[in-house]
Amino acid sequence: MNPSRYPLLEGLAKLCGDECVEDLEELAEEAEELEKLATGLPEPRLGAQNGGPLASRVANLDEVTGAAIEATGNVGLARYLAIRRIYLKLGGQAPRATGAVCPVCGSKPRVVVLSRVSQGFFDGYIPIARCICGMEWSVEEWRCPSCGSHGRDSFNIYIIKPGVLEVRECRSCGYRMAVTSVRPRQAEVMLASILLGV
Ligand SMILES: [Zn+2]
Ligand SMILES: [Zn+2]
Repeated sequence: MNPSRYPLLEGLAKLCGDECVEDLEELAEEAEELEKLATGLPEPRLGAQNGGPLASRVANLDEVTGAAIEATGNVGLARYLAIRRIYLKLGGQAPRATGAVCPVCGSKPRVVVLSRVSQGFFDGYIPIARCICGMEWSVEEWRCPSCGSHGRDSFNIYIIKPGVLEVRECRSCGYRMAVTSVRPRQAEVMLASILLGV
């Protein structure tokens, strides 16, 4: 694996053992190719202006998803491509995120990026959730997106690379997230979200 290209996946590969490192690299390259498929899907059109996540308000969602199924033959992958397409086209119209759920696709985040901020007297970082669809929003760092458990003590912490990457697992519900200080590529977020969700 090329660590400079996929640092997040290289770290997470430690969760599944040596034999999965090569598989992950191959998958990452395939995931990069998916971007072309996603942008080639029919243009999503927004129906209702208000309501739930954007994806649930796309008037021609069946058309977008249907084209994705035709292109991949895989329902799970098609669902990913459809929400990716919706994020790329309509993400800017998403309502402000106020909690753990993505305002574009309704998923819960598996990746949190600790984004360094230096402004006046404030020198620190803000935690940004990065959804599988690509959407980003700021979150409360030590709150489980799945069950709401709160506080550092609510998590088991597996340090993979000190200061760069750790996996946090909610002690109440087992929900796992990667927390990283390095901005990941979309292919990495996609694969990490799947890997941590199994
Ligand atoms: Zn999303
Ligand atoms: Zn939880």
